[in-house]
Amino acid sequence: MTTVIYPGSFDPVTNGHKDIIDRASRVFDKVIVSVLENPRKAPLFSLEERVEMLRLIARNYQNVEVDSFRGLLIDYARQKNTNIVVKGLRAISDFEFEFQMALINRKLDSRLETMFMMTNSRYSYLSSSIVKEVGLYGGDICELVPREVYHLVMRKIREQAGSAN
Ligand code: ADP
Repeated sequence: MTTVIYPGSFDPVTNGHKDIIDRASRVFDKVIVSVLENPRKAPLFSLEERVEMLRLIARNYQNVEVDSFRGLLIDYARQKNTNIVVKGLRAISDFEFEFQMALINRKLDSRLETMFMMTNSRYSYLSSSIVKEVGLYGGDICELVPREVYHLVMRKIREQAGSAN
């Protein structure tokens, strides 16, 4: 049985992430979508909120599970008994960072393999930051995030916009 980890910030989950989850779930036996708890980043959504939103997506699949982790990905992968990580690639700008991450992870653990899935061209422009930016300035994010989480994302963005006034 092939289990893979799909790690990320998911702040919030977008249709681009959902597309990768959907495709990975067809290729691998089990996909663990895992929210990275990064103490150096100040996310808009709490770890619990990001996990909760991903669970609303994962409900649609029998082989997708949601979790979170902190620290090194190689340690987390060992803990989950897998050596495969899935990442999405949008553009050349992603490539440089992901290339570096994949190589450092392999240097730390030579068994770790990073598999890249090319973005769906419909979502190549999409990132969590774009969603937050568009939403904060009153743009429509309806086609940018999965419908299961739309209201949760909008509520948070409105709270944020309210507190900024
Ligand atoms: P971001 O904040 O840039 O959206 P994340 O850390 O949440 O990034 O992304 C997690 C993973 O999902 C990364 O591998 C990233 O490349 C991938 N990803 C993010 N958005 C997309 C997209 N629109 N299409 C394909 N992959 C994506």
